[in-house]
Formats: sequence, structure tokens, C-alpha cells
Amino acid sequence: MYHIGDIKAYLACPRRFIYAQQKDPGSIDYLNVKDDTTLIYARKLAVDRYFKGQKNDVPKRFLEAYKTYDWFIKPRLEADGLRIKVPIIHKTENGVDIYFTFWGIYPRVDDLIYYRLQLAVIQRNGLRIGRIYVIRLNPDYVYDGKNYDYDKLFIVDEFLYNRKNKAVYPLMDLLKHPLDLKALIQELTNVSIKDYPPLKKRRCLRPKRCPFYDDCFKEAKVDNSILTLADGNLKYRLYAKGLRYLKEVDLNMTKLEKMSYAQVMADKNGGLYLDHKALSSFMAGLSKRPISFIDFEWDRYLIPPYEKMRPFDPLCFEFALYVLDADGQMHEYSFIQKGDCRKAFIQKLLACLPKEGPILAYNAGGAEVLRIGELAQQNTDFASSLMALTERFVDLSWPFVQGMVYHTSMAGEFSLKRLVSLFSDYSYKDLAIHDGMEAVINYRNMEDAKKAGDLKKYCRLDAYGLYLIYSWLANLINRP
Ligand code: SF4
Repeated sequence: MYHIGDIKAYLACPRRFIYAQQKDPGSIDYLNVKDDTTLIYARKLAVDRYFKGQKNDVPKRFLEAYKTYDWFIKPRLEADGLRIKVPIIHKTENGVDIYFTFWGIYPRVDDLIYYRLQLAVIQRNGLRIGRIYVIRLNPDYVYDGKNYDYDKLFIVDEFLYNRKNKAVYPLMDLLKHPLDLKALIQELTNVSIKDYPPLKKRRCLRPKRCPFYDDCFKEAKVDNSILTLADGNLKYRLYAKGLRYLKEVDLNMTKLEKMSYAQVMADKNGGLYLDHKALSSFMAGLSKRPISFIDFEWDRYLIPPYEKMRPFDPLCFEFALYVLDADGQMHEYSFIQKGDCRKAFIQKLLACLPKEGPILAYNAGGAEVLRIGELAQQNTDFASSLMALTERFVDLSWPFVQGMVYHTSMAGEFSLKRLVSLFSDYSYKDLAIHDGMEAVINYRNMEDAKKAGDLKKYCRLDAYGLYLIYSWLANLINRP
């Protein structure tokens, strides 16, 4: 029996589908959903009597309930070897209305196959489809901290959207293009890995790196492989032409962006590339003391849990801060708390950060600066002090993404963790928590001091890692 995820994997890449059948790539809940989603749907539709589907239900259970209920939430259906969980079915005089649910703002037209598969199975069970809707979150909803207004929190829509968030596809059009489910399942059953040699395409790395990437492309692990080149499209073109190493790129024939240029030059130089002038100028901006190194951790909530928050808003629950003062002394501060800790977070942050001097973070503009802006919006009493901080932030990833410096041992990776492990004796492998998502999962389950301790160690290394990278860059420009 297949699931929709199997078919989506197959259509994206048959090879990925085969691997996934052999070893489970696992899944992570990126968003924090506290409530039972069935109850949320029921509240939105103001339905109090409904049939609720369960894991491992046989379809017969739904078909029997069909005689006595009008509303069905998460019923399990099967047809032609495909098993589905329909979000919501409403029995009407003329057949059934289908309510899809989308845990986001704009349900995408790119997901058409999901909707088509669902409808194909529903129809194969003899149900006549009337209207089709999708329930999505309202990005403008602001929680008052007391009661959820489910009418405003969700929008019942009849369209799918393109990447510019334009409504482009009426859901009722799905009925005009029925799917040959039997034929598709037959294809899946007959698929064999020998028919699909690994073929590097955008899908292998975007939107996320395929969990089977290393199974397909072992050569990408070589530090100076052409496949480590930052320019995604170009690297595949060069690979197809027979190039295997960065140093083989002919700079007279190939126009490169800054990052890729630094990579090629590093390999031609035997490992390191340094634009001394550009890096010196960047580091000169960091000569003032005190200098602060900071890292935030946050969780993201689908349904806003606290006052003045909107759907998808993050909640900062931890920071680690190191401050290097004018005498060369290092001072350490940290914060971690459960619940609505926004005010306490802000107060500790403002109390610990020095009143002047640069504040370093990694990818500051896409992380800490954004988070501070959100906190300022939700806590207007502190808005001016918080916004003043944002002026002092400096992004330590800048020298790397601007191609001022590159070492082939980075193997095309520019993350803070990669750099810390390469340019110091510290390693995330020695910690109980290894990445941001693990930190979030630990925070969600944090009820004892041990877990808080692990989180502190993790966040501390992120912040101290900034100091280590800063020191490495400073040494580079100062060495003879
Ligand atoms: S790495 Fe690319 S070719 Fe290999 S399974 Fe994943 S998507 Fe398919």
C-alpha cells in the first residue's frame, strides 16, 4: 500500500522513491502545533458532531460511519493501492464537499498532485464531489492572548496560489483533469533503480538537500570537487563538460560570481584564497571595543500562543552572549526560559549587551536582527532600545558569502558549524545537541535541568564560535 508522499517522491525523482522504500529518511516537525488539529478544524467549521478517523483505520470504518454522520475529519480511504487521509469531508444532499487544510498562508499550485490524488481516491470510493475548499491560515490575524477567533484565524479559500502569492488555480478545476490512478500505481510497482542512474538536478539540493544525496553522489564529498561550487547551475554544466575539480575552471573562459571565484582561486592556490584588502576593510569596522558575539534560539508556532503574535511567529527562548572588553577580558551571559518569556528575554538582553560596540552574529540580517524587530513590534515599550541595537549588528558570514576568504576544506559549506569545526578544536560532535532543529526539539521537551544544560552548551558554542571565527579572520590579515 502506498501513500501520497511515496507518489510525490516518485514524481520528483524515481530514484529517491526507491531509496525511501529501503530506508526511512525520517521527518521533523519544523513548526510547533500544540493543539489537536482535528479540534482546530472542527472549531473553525463550527462542527460539534463529527466522525474522527484514526491511525491504521480500515476504510470500512469510514464507510459505515458515512450512514450516520455528516462531517468526517481525517477519515482514511483506499483505492487501487493508495491510502489517504482526507482532511475533512462534508456530506451534502448532492454528494460530498471536500475541505483540504493547508498549514501555511498560501496553498501552492505546485502541490496539484496531492489534491488530484486525494480526489481520485475519494471518487474511486463512489463519492460524488460537490465543492472543493482549502482552509489556510490568515497572516493578518493577531492573537489577543485570551480567546482564539477561529473565523479570523483561518480563511476558507477556493484557489491555489503561485509563487508570487497570486490566486491562479480554482480548486473546482481539479475535477476537469481526473487522474489515472491505477496506471500510476502500476508504474510505482514496476520501478527499478537500474533504470534511473543518478542525475544531478536542482531537485537534489533544492528546496532542501535530498536525504539520499550522498548515496547518489559520493564525489561531492571531496573538498575541492567541482560539485562544491557555490553557483548551483554552473557546477552542473561544468561537471557535464568533464571538469571534476575547482582548479580546472578556466577563469578566462568562465565568468564566476564572487563566492565561486574565491573557491576556484583557493584550489588553484593550494587551499586558501584571501582578498586581503577587502577582509582588512571589513575587520577594520570591528576594531572598537567592547565587541559582542551573540546567538539566539527560537521556536516557530503555527497558531500564535501568546498575545500580539501572528501565525508562524517565532518565539525567542534562548540567547548566549560573549563580550570581549577593552582589556581583552571575555564576559559570558546567557538566557533560557519556557513559556511567554519575551519580556524577560528583552530585559536580560538589554541588561547584558554593552551600550556600544559592534554586535556580531552569523547571518545576522536573516536571524537575530529580524527577531529583534519582531520583539520590538510585540513589545512597544522596548521598541526604541531594541531597534537601536539592530544598527550595531554585523554579519560575520559576510566575508565568506562575499568571497573575501575561502578554504577548500570548507567543501562548499559556509555554515557557522562547519567553520567552527574547521578552524578551531571545538566540535558540535562533542555536544548532546548538534543543530538548531535538535535544539528546538529539546526546548519543546525541556522539563529538567539536564536538557536546559544541553541547550545552554549548544547555544554557547554558537556564540563562542563567532569569536573563534572572528579570531581566525583577524589572524589571517595580520600574518606576514
Ligand atoms: S540526490 Fe538527486 S538523483 Fe539522488 S535520489 Fe536525491 S533527488 Fe534523486
